[in-house]
Amino acid sequence: MSVVASVERALRDAVSAEVIAPSAQYLADETETRGLHGHADAVALPRTAEEVAEIVGWCYEHGVPVVPRGGGTGYAAGAVPLDGGIVVALERLTRVRSFEPTLWRMEAEAGVTTAEVRRRARDGGLLFPPDPGGAEQSQIGGNVATNAGGPHAYKYGVTGAWVTGVEAVVAPGELVRLGGPLRKDVAGYDLTALMVGSEGTLGVITSVWLRLTPAPEAAWPVVAFFDGVDAGCEAIRRVVGTGLGAAAIEYLDENTMRLAGAGFPSEIPQGTFCVLTEADGSHDEAVRVRQDLIEVLGEDARAVHAPDNPEEIAALWRWREGVTLRVQAHRGGKVSEDIAVPLERLAEAIRESLAIAARLGLPAASWGHAGDGNLHTTYLIDREVADERRIAAEASNELFELALRLGGTISGEHGVGALKRSWLERRLGPKAAELHAAVKQAFDPQNLLNPGKK
Ligand SMILES: Cc1cc2nc3c(=O)[nH]c(=O)nc-3n(C[C@H](O)[C@H](O)[C@H](O)COP(=O)(O)OP(=O)(O)OC[C@H]3O[C@@H](n4cnc5c(N)ncnc54)[C@H](O)[C@@H]3O)c2cc1C
Repeated sequence: MSVVASVERALRDAVSAEVIAPSAQYLADETETRGLHGHADAVALPRTAEEVAEIVGWCYEHGVPVVPRGGGTGYAAGAVPLDGGIVVALERLTRVRSFEPTLWRMEAEAGVTTAEVRRRARDGGLLFPPDPGGAEQSQIGGNVATNAGGPHAYKYGVTGAWVTGVEAVVAPGELVRLGGPLRKDVAGYDLTALMVGSEGTLGVITSVWLRLTPAPEAAWPVVAFFDGVDAGCEAIRRVVGTGLGAAAIEYLDENTMRLAGAGFPSEIPQGTFCVLTEADGSHDEAVRVRQDLIEVLGEDARAVHAPDNPEEIAALWRWREGVTLRVQAHRGGKVSEDIAVPLERLAEAIRESLAIAARLGLPAASWGHAGDGNLHTTYLIDREVADERRIAAEASNELFELALRLGGTISGEHGVGALKRSWLERRLGPKAAELHAAVKQAFDPQNLLNPGKK
Protein backbone atom coordinates (compact mmCIF):
# COMPACT_ATOMS: atom_id res chain seq x y z
CA MET A 1 0.00 0.00 0.00
CA SER A 2 1.30 3.45 -0.90
CA VAL A 3 2.03 5.82 1.97
CA VAL A 4 1.47 8.93 -0.17
CA ALA A 5 -1.97 10.54 -0.03
CA SER A 6 -2.08 11.97 -3.57
CA VAL A 7 0.41 9.94 -5.50
CA GLU A 8 -0.20 11.79 -8.75
CA ARG A 9 0.48 15.22 -7.27
CA ALA A 10 3.43 14.11 -5.17
CA LEU A 11 5.10 12.40 -8.13
CA ARG A 12 4.51 15.42 -10.36
CA ASP A 13 6.20 17.65 -7.78
CA ALA A 14 9.14 15.26 -7.38
CA VAL A 15 10.23 14.32 -10.91
CA SER A 16 11.10 16.10 -14.16
CA ALA A 17 8.99 13.85 -16.43
CA GLU A 18 5.44 14.79 -17.36
CA VAL A 19 2.93 13.11 -15.05
CA ILE A 20 -0.73 12.90 -16.08
CA ALA A 21 -3.94 11.53 -14.64
CA PRO A 22 -4.58 7.96 -15.78
CA SER A 23 -6.72 7.75 -18.92
CA ALA A 24 -8.29 4.62 -20.41
CA GLN A 25 -5.62 4.14 -23.08
CA TYR A 26 -2.99 3.43 -20.39
CA LEU A 27 -5.10 1.04 -18.36
CA ALA A 28 -5.64 -1.84 -20.76
CA ASP A 29 -3.89 -3.91 -23.41
CA GLU A 30 -5.19 -6.45 -25.95
CA THR A 31 -6.88 -8.33 -23.12
CA GLU A 32 -9.52 -5.61 -23.25
CA THR A 33 -11.22 -7.96 -25.73
CA ARG A 34 -11.87 -10.21 -22.76
CA GLY A 35 -13.05 -7.36 -20.53
CA LEU A 36 -9.87 -6.58 -18.55
CA HIS A 37 -9.13 -3.03 -17.29
CA GLY A 38 -6.80 -1.76 -14.60
CA HIS A 39 -6.59 1.33 -12.43
CA ALA A 40 -3.58 3.52 -11.68
CA ASP A 41 -2.66 6.51 -9.54
CA ALA A 42 -0.91 8.30 -12.38
CA VAL A 43 0.84 7.87 -15.72
CA ALA A 44 4.43 9.06 -16.14
CA LEU A 45 5.77 9.94 -19.58
CA PRO A 46 9.57 10.13 -19.32
CA ARG A 47 11.69 11.29 -22.26
CA THR A 48 15.03 9.93 -21.09
CA ALA A 49 16.47 6.96 -19.23
CA GLU A 50 17.49 9.34 -16.42
CA GLU A 51 13.87 10.44 -16.04
CA VAL A 52 12.83 6.79 -15.80
CA ALA A 53 15.41 6.30 -13.05
CA GLU A 54 14.02 9.30 -11.18
CA ILE A 55 10.46 7.91 -11.35
CA VAL A 56 11.45 4.41 -10.25
CA GLY A 57 13.58 5.91 -7.46
CA TRP A 58 10.63 7.94 -6.17
CA CYS A 59 8.26 4.95 -6.39
CA TYR A 60 10.71 2.73 -4.56
CA GLU A 61 11.16 5.26 -1.81
CA HIS A 62 7.42 5.67 -1.35
CA GLY A 63 6.30 2.05 -1.79
CA VAL A 64 4.37 2.72 -5.01
CA PRO A 65 4.07 0.01 -7.72
CA VAL A 66 5.62 0.67 -11.14
CA VAL A 67 3.99 -0.79 -14.25
CA PRO A 68 6.15 -0.42 -17.39
CA ARG A 69 4.14 0.04 -20.56
CA GLY A 70 5.21 -0.34 -24.17
CA GLY A 71 2.73 -0.29 -27.04
CA GLY A 72 -0.01 -2.06 -25.06
CA THR A 73 -0.33 -4.85 -27.65
CA GLY A 74 0.31 -7.60 -25.12
CA TYR A 75 -2.08 -10.54 -24.74
CA ALA A 76 -1.30 -11.43 -21.13
CA ALA A 77 -2.35 -8.24 -19.30
CA GLY A 78 1.32 -7.62 -18.45
CA ALA A 79 0.99 -3.85 -18.94
CA VAL A 80 -2.38 -3.61 -17.20
CA PRO A 81 -2.02 -1.96 -13.76
CA LEU A 82 -4.15 -4.28 -11.65
CA ASP A 83 -2.82 -3.09 -8.27
CA GLY A 84 -2.74 0.67 -8.94
CA GLY A 85 0.56 2.53 -8.88
CA ILE A 86 2.37 4.41 -11.63
CA VAL A 87 2.20 3.40 -15.28
CA VAL A 88 5.56 4.28 -16.81
CA ALA A 89 4.84 4.66 -20.53
CA LEU A 90 8.00 4.44 -22.64
CA GLU A 91 6.44 5.97 -25.77
CA ARG A 92 8.66 9.09 -25.65
CA LEU A 93 11.95 7.20 -25.57
CA THR A 94 12.06 7.02 -29.34
CA ARG A 95 15.68 7.67 -30.28
CA VAL A 96 17.73 5.26 -32.31
CA ARG A 97 20.94 6.02 -30.42
CA SER A 98 23.19 4.38 -32.99
CA PHE A 99 22.87 2.41 -36.20
CA GLU A 100 26.02 1.03 -37.77
CA PRO A 101 25.03 -0.94 -40.87
CA THR A 102 28.56 -2.14 -41.60
CA LEU A 103 28.80 -3.56 -38.07
CA TRP A 104 25.28 -5.05 -38.29
CA ARG A 105 24.05 -3.45 -35.08
CA MET A 106 21.70 -0.86 -33.65
CA GLU A 107 21.01 0.64 -30.26
CA ALA A 108 17.38 1.68 -29.97
CA GLU A 109 15.52 3.21 -27.07
CA ALA A 110 12.69 1.18 -25.58
CA GLY A 111 9.90 3.22 -27.17
CA VAL A 112 10.98 2.81 -30.79
CA THR A 113 8.27 0.75 -32.50
CA THR A 114 9.08 -2.72 -33.80
CA ALA A 115 8.15 -1.62 -37.32
CA GLU A 116 10.53 1.35 -37.12
CA VAL A 117 13.43 -0.88 -36.02
CA ARG A 118 12.72 -3.19 -38.96
CA ARG A 119 12.39 -0.26 -41.41
CA ARG A 120 15.64 1.35 -40.25
CA ALA A 121 17.46 -1.98 -40.56
CA ARG A 122 16.01 -2.58 -44.05
CA ASP A 123 17.03 0.89 -45.21
CA GLY A 124 20.59 -0.11 -44.32
CA GLY A 125 20.31 -3.39 -46.25
CA LEU A 126 19.85 -5.37 -43.04
CA LEU A 127 17.18 -7.44 -41.35
CA PHE A 128 15.92 -7.38 -37.78
CA PRO A 129 14.15 -10.73 -38.04
CA PRO A 130 11.64 -10.76 -35.13
CA ASP A 131 8.26 -9.91 -36.67
CA PRO A 132 5.46 -10.10 -34.12
CA GLY A 133 2.11 -8.88 -35.48
CA GLY A 134 1.03 -5.47 -34.20
CA ALA A 135 4.51 -4.17 -35.10
CA GLU A 136 3.38 -0.62 -35.88
CA GLN A 137 2.20 -0.27 -32.29
CA SER A 138 4.40 -2.59 -30.24
CA GLN A 139 7.73 -1.24 -29.02
CA ILE A 140 11.15 -2.82 -29.04
CA GLY A 141 11.25 -2.54 -25.23
CA GLY A 142 7.96 -4.47 -25.04
CA ASN A 143 9.26 -7.05 -27.51
CA VAL A 144 12.36 -7.61 -25.39
CA ALA A 145 10.32 -7.64 -22.18
CA THR A 146 8.10 -10.39 -23.62
CA ASN A 147 10.76 -12.09 -25.75
CA ALA A 148 8.31 -11.84 -28.63
CA GLY A 149 8.22 -14.29 -31.51
CA GLY A 150 6.42 -14.13 -34.83
CA PRO A 151 6.25 -16.10 -38.09
CA HIS A 152 9.96 -15.89 -38.90
CA ALA A 153 11.07 -17.07 -35.45
CA TYR A 154 11.02 -20.54 -37.02
CA LYS A 155 14.22 -19.86 -38.94
CA TYR A 156 15.67 -16.85 -37.12
CA GLY A 157 14.68 -17.36 -33.48
CA VAL A 158 12.75 -15.11 -31.09
CA THR A 159 13.64 -11.55 -30.06
CA GLY A 160 16.15 -12.63 -27.41
CA ALA A 161 18.33 -14.20 -30.09
CA TRP A 162 18.95 -10.68 -31.43
CA VAL A 163 19.60 -8.80 -28.19
CA THR A 164 23.22 -8.35 -27.10
CA GLY A 165 22.63 -5.78 -24.39
CA VAL A 166 20.01 -4.01 -22.34
CA GLU A 167 20.01 -0.70 -20.50
CA ALA A 168 17.48 -0.75 -17.70
CA VAL A 169 16.45 0.97 -14.52
CA VAL A 170 16.52 -1.48 -11.64
CA ALA A 171 15.54 -1.06 -7.98
CA PRO A 172 15.88 1.20 -6.14
CA GLY A 173 16.12 3.50 -9.17
CA GLU A 174 19.51 2.82 -10.70
CA LEU A 175 20.39 2.84 -14.39
CA VAL A 176 22.45 -0.23 -15.38
CA ARG A 177 23.93 -1.51 -18.62
CA LEU A 178 23.93 -5.26 -19.11
CA GLY A 179 25.85 -6.61 -22.10
CA GLY A 180 26.30 -4.09 -24.91
CA PRO A 181 27.38 -3.89 -28.54
CA LEU A 182 29.27 -7.19 -28.14
CA ARG A 183 28.74 -10.34 -30.13
CA LYS A 184 30.14 -12.51 -27.34
CA ASP A 185 30.26 -12.05 -23.58
CA VAL A 186 30.45 -14.78 -20.98
CA ALA A 187 31.74 -12.68 -18.11
CA GLY A 188 29.35 -13.53 -15.28
CA TYR A 189 25.76 -14.71 -15.30
CA ASP A 190 23.80 -13.71 -18.38
CA LEU A 191 21.76 -10.89 -16.84
CA THR A 192 20.90 -9.58 -20.31
CA ALA A 193 19.07 -12.85 -21.01
CA LEU A 194 17.37 -12.61 -17.64
CA MET A 195 15.91 -9.21 -18.57
CA VAL A 196 14.67 -10.67 -21.86
CA GLY A 197 11.16 -11.98 -21.22
CA SER A 198 11.05 -10.53 -17.68
CA GLU A 199 7.76 -8.71 -18.44
CA GLY A 200 8.62 -5.58 -16.47
CA THR A 201 9.06 -7.48 -13.21
CA LEU A 202 12.85 -7.05 -12.86
CA GLY A 203 13.40 -3.55 -14.21
CA VAL A 204 12.31 -0.95 -16.74
CA ILE A 205 14.15 -1.38 -20.04
CA THR A 206 15.22 1.98 -21.46
CA SER A 207 17.37 0.92 -24.42
CA VAL A 208 18.53 -2.24 -26.21
CA TRP A 209 21.50 -3.23 -28.34
CA LEU A 210 20.37 -5.32 -31.27
CA ARG A 211 22.27 -7.64 -33.56
CA LEU A 212 21.20 -7.45 -37.22
CA THR A 213 21.83 -9.64 -40.24
CA PRO A 214 22.02 -8.95 -43.97
CA ALA A 215 18.55 -8.83 -45.50
CA PRO A 216 17.75 -11.84 -47.70
CA GLU A 217 17.90 -11.09 -51.39
CA ALA A 218 14.59 -12.83 -52.02
CA ALA A 219 11.62 -14.02 -49.93
CA TRP A 220 8.81 -15.98 -51.58
CA PRO A 221 5.83 -17.58 -49.85
CA VAL A 222 4.46 -20.99 -50.75
CA VAL A 223 0.91 -21.62 -49.52
CA ALA A 224 -0.76 -25.03 -49.59
CA PHE A 225 -4.29 -26.14 -48.73
CA PHE A 226 -5.06 -29.54 -47.18
CA ASP A 227 -8.03 -31.71 -46.33
CA GLY A 228 -8.03 -31.29 -42.57
CA VAL A 229 -5.68 -30.88 -39.64
CA ASP A 230 -3.97 -34.25 -39.91
CA ALA A 231 -2.99 -33.90 -43.57
CA GLY A 232 -1.80 -30.33 -42.97
CA CYS A 233 0.28 -31.22 -39.93
CA GLU A 234 1.75 -34.23 -41.69
CA ALA A 235 2.92 -31.90 -44.48
CA ILE A 236 4.42 -29.54 -41.88
CA ARG A 237 6.39 -32.44 -40.42
CA ARG A 238 7.63 -33.37 -43.89
CA VAL A 239 8.86 -29.78 -44.43
CA VAL A 240 10.67 -29.81 -41.07
CA GLY A 241 11.95 -33.36 -41.43
CA THR A 242 13.42 -32.89 -44.87
CA GLY A 243 15.45 -29.91 -43.60
CA LEU A 244 14.40 -27.53 -46.36
CA GLY A 245 15.32 -24.43 -44.42
CA ALA A 246 11.96 -22.67 -44.69
CA ALA A 247 11.96 -19.21 -43.13
CA ALA A 248 8.41 -19.49 -41.76
CA ILE A 249 5.83 -22.26 -41.36
CA GLU A 250 2.40 -21.01 -40.32
CA TYR A 251 -0.95 -22.81 -40.12
CA LEU A 252 -4.52 -21.54 -40.32
CA ASP A 253 -7.29 -24.06 -39.71
CA GLU A 254 -10.56 -24.36 -41.65
CA ASN A 255 -12.47 -22.13 -39.21
CA THR A 256 -9.83 -19.42 -39.46
CA MET A 257 -9.96 -19.56 -43.25
CA ARG A 258 -13.75 -19.37 -43.15
CA LEU A 259 -13.78 -16.39 -40.74
CA ALA A 260 -10.76 -14.51 -42.12
CA GLY A 261 -10.45 -15.80 -45.68
CA ALA A 262 -11.87 -12.60 -47.20
CA GLY A 263 -8.93 -10.53 -48.32
CA PHE A 264 -6.70 -13.56 -48.99
CA PRO A 265 -5.05 -12.51 -52.25
CA SER A 266 -6.02 -15.61 -54.28
CA GLU A 267 -8.78 -18.19 -54.45
CA ILE A 268 -9.09 -20.48 -51.42
CA PRO A 269 -10.33 -24.05 -51.82
CA GLN A 270 -13.42 -24.37 -49.55
CA GLY A 271 -13.08 -26.06 -46.17
CA THR A 272 -9.33 -26.50 -46.17
CA PHE A 273 -6.49 -26.26 -43.67
CA CYS A 274 -3.89 -23.76 -44.85
CA VAL A 275 -0.11 -24.02 -44.46
CA LEU A 276 1.82 -20.84 -45.25
CA THR A 277 5.57 -21.17 -45.67
CA GLU A 278 8.30 -18.93 -47.00
CA ALA A 279 11.55 -19.51 -48.87
CA ASP A 280 14.23 -16.86 -48.42
CA GLY A 281 17.95 -16.28 -48.81
CA SER A 282 20.12 -15.41 -51.77
CA HIS A 283 18.22 -15.47 -55.07
CA ASP A 284 19.48 -18.98 -55.94
CA GLU A 285 18.87 -20.37 -52.49
CA ALA A 286 15.33 -18.96 -52.38
CA VAL A 287 14.59 -20.47 -55.81
CA ARG A 288 15.79 -23.88 -54.62
CA VAL A 289 13.91 -23.80 -51.30
CA ARG A 290 10.75 -22.52 -53.01
CA GLN A 291 10.82 -25.37 -55.51
CA ASP A 292 11.40 -27.91 -52.74
CA LEU A 293 8.53 -26.47 -50.71
CA ILE A 294 6.19 -26.68 -53.70
CA GLU A 295 7.12 -30.34 -54.17
CA VAL A 296 7.02 -31.41 -50.53
CA LEU A 297 3.79 -29.58 -49.71
CA GLY A 298 2.29 -30.51 -53.06
CA GLU A 299 2.50 -34.27 -52.39
CA ASP A 300 -1.00 -34.38 -50.98
CA ALA A 301 -2.22 -30.78 -51.00
CA ARG A 302 -5.54 -29.89 -52.60
CA ALA A 303 -3.91 -26.79 -54.05
CA VAL A 304 -0.57 -24.97 -53.87
CA HIS A 305 -0.16 -21.26 -54.44
CA ALA A 306 3.30 -19.72 -54.83
CA PRO A 307 3.08 -16.01 -55.72
CA ASP A 308 6.17 -14.28 -57.06
CA ASN A 309 4.69 -10.85 -57.66
CA PRO A 310 5.90 -8.41 -54.93
CA GLU A 311 2.50 -6.72 -54.56
CA GLU A 312 0.74 -10.03 -54.07
CA ILE A 313 3.39 -11.22 -51.61
CA ALA A 314 3.02 -8.01 -49.60
CA ALA A 315 -0.77 -8.43 -49.69
CA LEU A 316 -0.45 -12.01 -48.45
CA TRP A 317 1.61 -11.05 -45.38
CA ARG A 318 -0.66 -8.06 -44.73
CA TRP A 319 -3.58 -10.46 -44.78
CA ARG A 320 -1.76 -12.81 -42.37
CA GLU A 321 -1.11 -9.91 -39.98
CA GLY A 322 -4.80 -8.98 -40.08
CA VAL A 323 -6.10 -12.48 -39.30
CA THR A 324 -6.48 -11.80 -35.57
CA LEU A 325 -8.64 -8.72 -36.11
CA ARG A 326 -10.73 -10.35 -38.83
CA VAL A 327 -11.51 -13.35 -36.63
CA GLN A 328 -12.23 -11.14 -33.63
CA ALA A 329 -14.63 -8.97 -35.65
CA HIS A 330 -17.13 -11.84 -35.84
CA ARG A 331 -18.25 -11.55 -32.22
CA GLY A 332 -16.50 -8.40 -31.00
CA GLY A 333 -14.47 -10.19 -28.34
CA LYS A 334 -12.09 -13.10 -28.09
CA VAL A 335 -9.93 -15.02 -25.70
CA SER A 336 -6.74 -16.07 -27.40
CA GLU A 337 -3.87 -18.04 -25.94
CA ASP A 338 -0.41 -19.04 -27.13
CA ILE A 339 0.40 -22.50 -25.83
CA ALA A 340 3.29 -24.33 -27.47
CA VAL A 341 3.75 -28.09 -27.79
CA PRO A 342 6.41 -30.40 -29.20
CA LEU A 343 5.99 -30.42 -32.97
CA GLU A 344 4.88 -34.06 -33.12
CA ARG A 345 1.88 -33.19 -30.88
CA LEU A 346 0.72 -30.22 -33.00
CA ALA A 347 -2.19 -31.94 -34.78
CA GLU A 348 -3.46 -33.40 -31.50
CA ALA A 349 -3.16 -29.99 -29.80
CA ILE A 350 -5.11 -28.21 -32.56
CA ARG A 351 -7.87 -30.83 -32.61
CA GLU A 352 -8.23 -30.97 -28.83
CA SER A 353 -8.13 -27.19 -28.42
CA LEU A 354 -11.08 -26.96 -30.81
CA ALA A 355 -12.84 -29.84 -29.05
CA ILE A 356 -12.71 -27.80 -25.82
CA ALA A 357 -14.63 -25.03 -27.59
CA ALA A 358 -17.20 -27.44 -29.01
CA ARG A 359 -17.76 -28.95 -25.56
CA LEU A 360 -18.23 -25.52 -23.96
CA GLY A 361 -20.37 -24.19 -26.80
CA LEU A 362 -18.01 -21.43 -28.00
CA PRO A 363 -17.14 -20.68 -31.62
CA ALA A 364 -13.37 -21.05 -32.12
CA ALA A 365 -10.59 -20.89 -34.66
CA SER A 366 -6.98 -21.98 -34.50
CA TRP A 367 -3.91 -20.66 -36.24
CA GLY A 368 -0.30 -20.13 -35.30
CA HIS A 369 3.39 -20.60 -35.83
CA ALA A 370 3.33 -24.25 -36.82
CA GLY A 371 7.06 -24.75 -37.21
CA ASP A 372 7.50 -23.74 -33.55
CA GLY A 373 4.52 -25.82 -32.37
CA ASN A 374 2.93 -22.55 -31.19
CA LEU A 375 -0.89 -22.41 -31.31
CA HIS A 376 -3.15 -19.36 -31.15
CA THR A 377 -6.39 -21.16 -30.60
CA THR A 378 -8.97 -18.44 -30.13
CA TYR A 379 -12.39 -18.57 -28.47
CA LEU A 380 -14.86 -16.01 -29.77
CA ILE A 381 -17.10 -14.22 -27.33
CA ASP A 382 -19.45 -11.31 -26.91
CA ARG A 383 -17.36 -9.47 -24.33
CA GLU A 384 -20.40 -7.73 -22.87
CA VAL A 385 -21.80 -11.09 -21.75
CA ALA A 386 -20.27 -12.08 -18.41
CA ASP A 387 -21.21 -15.71 -18.82
CA GLU A 388 -19.31 -15.96 -22.10
CA ARG A 389 -16.24 -14.37 -20.51
CA ARG A 390 -16.45 -16.92 -17.73
CA ILE A 391 -16.81 -19.86 -20.13
CA ALA A 392 -13.90 -18.59 -22.23
CA ALA A 393 -11.72 -18.38 -19.13
CA GLU A 394 -12.67 -21.99 -18.43
CA ALA A 395 -11.68 -22.87 -22.00
CA SER A 396 -8.29 -21.20 -21.49
CA ASN A 397 -7.70 -23.21 -18.34
CA GLU A 398 -8.52 -26.42 -20.19
CA LEU A 399 -6.12 -25.32 -22.90
CA PHE A 400 -3.26 -24.82 -20.41
CA GLU A 401 -4.05 -28.23 -18.96
CA LEU A 402 -3.86 -29.68 -22.48
CA ALA A 403 -0.51 -28.00 -23.15
CA LEU A 404 1.05 -29.45 -20.00
CA ARG A 405 -0.40 -32.90 -20.71
CA LEU A 406 1.17 -32.87 -24.18
CA GLY A 407 4.58 -31.91 -22.76
CA GLY A 408 4.24 -28.27 -23.82
CA THR A 409 4.11 -24.87 -22.19
CA ILE A 410 1.39 -22.40 -21.15
CA SER A 411 3.01 -19.59 -23.17
CA GLY A 412 5.13 -19.78 -26.31
CA GLU A 413 5.44 -16.04 -26.88
CA HIS A 414 2.92 -13.71 -25.20
CA GLY A 415 4.23 -14.22 -21.68
CA VAL A 416 2.60 -15.03 -18.37
CA GLY A 417 1.43 -11.55 -17.39
CA ALA A 418 -1.42 -11.51 -14.93
CA LEU A 419 -3.48 -14.10 -16.77
CA LYS A 420 -1.39 -17.24 -16.59
CA ARG A 421 0.21 -16.60 -13.24
CA SER A 422 -1.66 -19.30 -11.38
CA TRP A 423 -0.34 -21.82 -13.93
CA LEU A 424 3.33 -20.90 -13.76
CA GLU A 425 4.38 -23.06 -10.85
CA ARG A 426 2.82 -26.13 -12.46
CA ARG A 427 4.75 -25.42 -15.64
CA LEU A 428 8.04 -24.83 -13.80
CA GLY A 429 7.92 -27.34 -10.96
CA PRO A 430 8.56 -26.43 -7.30
CA LYS A 431 12.35 -26.02 -7.38
CA ALA A 432 12.41 -23.86 -10.52
CA ALA A 433 9.56 -21.79 -9.06
CA GLU A 434 11.63 -21.27 -5.90
CA LEU A 435 14.61 -20.10 -8.01
CA HIS A 436 12.31 -17.74 -9.92
CA ALA A 437 11.12 -16.23 -6.63
CA ALA A 438 14.73 -15.80 -5.48
CA VAL A 439 15.64 -13.95 -8.71
CA LYS A 440 12.64 -11.65 -8.26
CA GLN A 441 13.59 -11.01 -4.62
CA ALA A 442 17.17 -10.13 -5.64
CA PHE A 443 16.03 -7.63 -8.29
CA ASP A 444 12.96 -6.24 -6.57
CA PRO A 445 13.06 -6.78 -2.80
CA GLN A 446 9.95 -4.65 -2.19
CA ASN A 447 7.92 -6.32 -4.98
CA LEU A 448 7.06 -2.99 -6.62
CA LEU A 449 8.09 -3.72 -10.21
CA ASN A 450 4.97 -4.86 -12.03
CA PRO A 451 3.59 -6.72 -9.01
CA GLY A 452 1.20 -9.59 -9.62
CA LYS A 453 2.71 -10.45 -13.01
CA LYS A 454 4.88 -13.33 -14.28
C1 LIG B 1 -2.33 -8.17 -33.97
C2 LIG B 1 -1.32 -8.69 -33.00
C3 LIG B 1 -0.46 -9.71 -33.37
C4 LIG B 1 0.52 -10.17 -32.48
N1 LIG B 1 1.38 -11.14 -32.90
C5 LIG B 1 2.37 -11.57 -32.07
C6 LIG B 1 3.31 -12.53 -32.51
O1 LIG B 1 3.29 -12.99 -33.65
N2 LIG B 1 4.26 -12.91 -31.64
C7 LIG B 1 4.34 -12.40 -30.35
O2 LIG B 1 5.24 -12.79 -29.60
N3 LIG B 1 3.45 -11.50 -29.92
C8 LIG B 1 2.47 -11.07 -30.74
N4 LIG B 1 1.56 -10.14 -30.29
C9 LIG B 1 1.61 -9.70 -28.88
C10 LIG B 1 2.43 -8.42 -28.63
O3 LIG B 1 2.51 -7.63 -29.79
C11 LIG B 1 3.82 -8.73 -28.11
O4 LIG B 1 3.72 -9.38 -26.86
C12 LIG B 1 4.69 -7.49 -27.96
O5 LIG B 1 6.02 -7.89 -27.71
C13 LIG B 1 4.24 -6.54 -26.84
O6 LIG B 1 4.93 -5.32 -26.98
P1 LIG B 1 4.32 -3.96 -26.43
O7 LIG B 1 5.31 -2.89 -26.65
O8 LIG B 1 2.97 -3.73 -26.98
O9 LIG B 1 4.26 -4.31 -24.87
P2 LIG B 1 3.09 -4.08 -23.80
O10 LIG B 1 1.87 -4.81 -24.19
O11 LIG B 1 2.96 -2.65 -23.50
O12 LIG B 1 3.75 -4.81 -22.54
C14 LIG B 1 3.99 -6.19 -22.53
C15 LIG B 1 4.80 -6.56 -21.28
O13 LIG B 1 6.11 -6.01 -21.37
C16 LIG B 1 6.35 -5.10 -20.30
N5 LIG B 1 7.10 -3.98 -20.87
C17 LIG B 1 6.78 -3.23 -21.97
N6 LIG B 1 7.74 -2.33 -22.21
C18 LIG B 1 8.68 -2.51 -21.25
C19 LIG B 1 9.92 -1.89 -20.95
N7 LIG B 1 10.40 -0.90 -21.69
N8 LIG B 1 10.65 -2.34 -19.87
C20 LIG B 1 10.18 -3.34 -19.10
N9 LIG B 1 9.02 -3.96 -19.34
C21 LIG B 1 8.28 -3.56 -20.40
C22 LIG B 1 4.99 -4.71 -19.76
O14 LIG B 1 5.05 -4.38 -18.37
C23 LIG B 1 4.22 -6.01 -19.98
O15 LIG B 1 4.49 -6.92 -18.95
C24 LIG B 1 0.59 -9.65 -31.16
C25 LIG B 1 -0.31 -8.63 -30.77
C26 LIG B 1 -1.24 -8.15 -31.67
C27 LIG B 1 -2.15 -7.05 -31.23
